[in-house]
Amino acid sequence: MVSGCRFSHARTLAAAIVAMAASATCPEKAHARPVEDATQAERQTLNAALFLVDRAVARLPIVLTAMMPDIASPGIQGWTSMGPDGNGERIFIYTGSDVFRCARPSNENRQCVVKLASVIVHEAWHFRHGGSESGAYTAQLTFLLGNQAAAEHVTDVRRSRDRAVAAERRAVEAARRLSGRPEAAR
Ligand SMILES: [Zn+2]
Repeated sequence: MVSGCRFSHARTLAAAIVAMAASATCPEKAHARPVEDATQAERQTLNAALFLVDRAVARLPIVLTAMMPDIASPGIQGWTSMGPDGNGERIFIYTGSDVFRCARPSNENRQCVVKLASVIVHEAWHFRHGGSESGAYTAQLTFLLGNQAAAEHVTDVRRSRDRAVAAERRAVEAARRLSGRPEAAR
């Protein structure tokens, strides 16, 4: 849990398990573009979402990237890289995700902007507090409910939370079985 990527999105079960098992397979820093290098439309998309989150969250090191990490699940929206000390290093927002595309200002879809902002809130929680999916999803759901998110978005995120928390629990149990009581396995 010391280093690795945290995934905000668990549309596939593998994401949370992989996130826990990953050692240092975050996307290479070279792939991350500073926000200044993003296209104007991408910057506007991010800014619209940042406008909805706390100012302290908006000030975190958030970068836009068009590159998914190698271990990403297809539905990934964002992730957080953690330093060797366990502290957050950067929040990555994937510009190729459905939610990012839908949140483009030209779409005028407030629900998508709220959803993208909730991804940032989720990742900000990881950045500040570490890898627990339960805490990150709770922060995300609180944000969605406080910003009049559509019921379907809330249900989606609740489902993702349940899957991620269950996967996290299984991964912890598997790690415990691997590391402990070898004689019991014989
Ligand atoms: Zn997460």
